[in-house]
Amino acid sequence: MKEQLRAIRGMNDIVPPLSARWQHLEQQVVGVLNAYGYQQIRLPILEQTGVFERSIGDTTDIVQKEMYTFADRNGERLTLRPEGTAGCVRAVLEHGLLNVQPHLRLWYIGAMFRHERPQKGRYRQFHQIGVETYGMAGPGIDAEIILLTARLWRELGINGLRLELNTLGVAAERERYRAALSQYFEAHYEVLDEDSKLRLVRNPLRILDTKNPAMLGLVANAPSLVDYLDPESREHFAAVCSILNAAGVAYVVNPRLVRGLDYYSKTVFEWITTELGAQGTVCAGGRYDALVELMGGKPTPAIGFAMGLERLLELHAAQTGDQPSSEADLCVVAAGDAETAATLRLAEDLRDDLRGVRVLCLCGGGSLKTQMKRADRSGAQVALIVGSEELASDTITLKPLRGQGDQQRVPRASLRDILTKVLAL
Ligand code: ATP
Ligand code: MG
Repeated sequence: MKEQLRAIRGMNDIVPPLSARWQHLEQQVVGVLNAYGYQQIRLPILEQTGVFERSIGDTTDIVQKEMYTFADRNGERLTLRPEGTAGCVRAVLEHGLLNVQPHLRLWYIGAMFRHERPQKGRYRQFHQIGVETYGMAGPGIDAEIILLTARLWRELGINGLRLELNTLGVAAERERYRAALSQYFEAHYEVLDEDSKLRLVRNPLRILDTKNPAMLGLVANAPSLVDYLDPESREHFAAVCSILNAAGVAYVVNPRLVRGLDYYSKTVFEWITTELGAQGTVCAGGRYDALVELMGGKPTPAIGFAMGLERLLELHAAQTGDQPSSEADLCVVAAGDAETAATLRLAEDLRDDLRGVRVLCLCGGGSLKTQMKRADRSGAQVALIVGSEELASDTITLKPLRGQGDQQRVPRASLRDILTKVLAL
């Protein structure tokens, strides 16, 4: 026997029945996005490396050590996207979308790739649904996308997420803060871990994003960016908070929340759970008012977020429990090989007559008993059996599989009405 091939570490297959939970979750999220008038954008998974280097920032973990970058056959440097925002801005500019819709609300879904150490909640291929909005500078849109996420948790039945909020101000304010922060960490140089010593030189704000428990005390006493903000940034943040207060959305202001990417400014936020262990952020985002210009466009305010579907799904499963999964609602069974064609025909007719009902046709093979076992395992409510007697009398044998009533032979002509009742359609 040949050696069996395996998936790459940290890149997971999503197989049934778990794939049904994914589908359900994605459909619900998309429903909410539609309800807010967001439009889908579909983007390539590969981009020129420069798209990410320029936007995410070359001192970030992502660009420093997490990107899958390689030269293709022409020697061009390409990268598997580690996130969605950079490619989205690139595409918005390339297609001049802002000339047509100066206020643009977009969403995307797809796989992202980061070469991190695989562990629970952290994979090398993972999936995000994200939102990006352009052209809106005021606090209203900041609040809208947070309200949108809050609605999503309600509709998914997810409880107990904590909303953390902060403001990162604008570049000039961060420069002043950066100086103060450098001074503070330099004064405590001996306590810094290796990573933080590097960050101190490259970008001291990054130290606030440390995941090292030994560093948290030091970080907690560091100066706060809020104290370095000008009135305009302060007022923007206060306005976002007051809209959320009025809407009854609870949040915690966390002055250490900095996010792992360079392009953020002003409002940043994360939705965090304590139920998933160390990897507790299920959704994260913020403003990136300087990025569009940095990517070659006109100065354009922007704000967005991305949620990690693996983490969201795990939380959903933990809180809502196992959902019974089934392949079909109806299962059509041929009593013998001679009836295969008739069952396929019946299944097609039922798909015409009963829209939205899932009809599985067992394409023959094996005894009736074996097939009935398969029908039962499919999770279907009802089996419809076609044998020679049924064909001769233009009837179908209907067998409830989940214990609602007895098997009965029914005229083919009344099948639709009977099924409508039995399946409570
Ligand atoms: P973290 O602090 O957990 O490393 P991040 O700041 O790198 O997150 P973002 O780039 O903001 O994360 O991505 C948004 C969301 O995508 C995260 O909140 C998380 O839910 C999810 N995510 C990020 N990296 C991974 C990964 N390697 N595996 C699974 N989900 C991920
Ligand atoms: Mg990360």
